[in-house]
Amino acid sequence: MQKNRFCTSSSKRALRTDRSESLMPAGPALSSWKQLTSSAGKKMSDTGQQLLSEGRRLYGIALWRALTGDSGDSANKDIRRAIVALSSAMNWLEGWDSDGFDLAHQFLDKSGELARREFSAGCCFDFRDDAYHQACPVALAHSRVGMSAGFVIKQSHCSVCGKDPEECEHISGRVYDGERCCRVITEAELLEVSLVERPNQPDARIHSYTLTRSELYASLGEGFAWGMTISCDRCLNPCRGLSYPMRNT
Ligand SMILES: [Zn+2]
Ligand SMILES: [Zn+2]
Ligand SMILES: [Zn+2]
Repeated sequence: MQKNRFCTSSSKRALRTDRSESLMPAGPALSSWKQLTSSAGKKMSDTGQQLLSEGRRLYGIALWRALTGDSGDSANKDIRRAIVALSSAMNWLEGWDSDGFDLAHQFLDKSGELARREFSAGCCFDFRDDAYHQACPVALAHSRVGMSAGFVIKQSHCSVCGKDPEECEHISGRVYDGERCCRVITEAELLEVSLVERPNQPDARIHSYTLTRSELYASLGEGFAWGMTISCDRCLNPCRGLSYPMRNT
């Protein structure tokens, strides 16, 4: 595992600033920049920690079931749910809680291995539209990239009073009578989608990618016929670390 690539403290600080800019409302509502950054970070790491404990819980259940010889449907469902929760935990904790992020990564790798070893029917490449796709969430989580959308808001309203947010007195992000005010977007025009390391919506990720014919024929050799079921062995191998395709280094 290439731990040193996760984040140095200086790059983490830089990322935090970027993140809070896009997450939190600007303006006089919040008294200081520091408060603003820490409240965004707290929300992110709280959500991430919840997902992490849910993932660990489900992993524990699936492991126990595997050890007691129960490889049935519900055990398979538990391990698949653990994988989804843990990969989402990584998305929410990244840049905010590096210990939590590392732990989520470790449990994700363990869950992937358990899934492939004990519940291997769920570890096949997707074959659709005459192509094979890698859709293993464990594999995808190792490439730290996501999507950020640029769009123009055409219609929106304030969640507190229902009026145009430009015209009402409520401030997005503030709490009124126990309800957090936000801008509800009902119509928007999508301008572009860009690939970024840490998207504003932490779970806006790539869900599958296509495998090329040549790489399949090269790795599977003679016995391979197009369209046949191919199991994915990726998660049986030791982790080779995370990759950061959006970085120049
Ligand atoms: Zn309002
Ligand atoms: Zn896998
Ligand atoms: Zn890994």
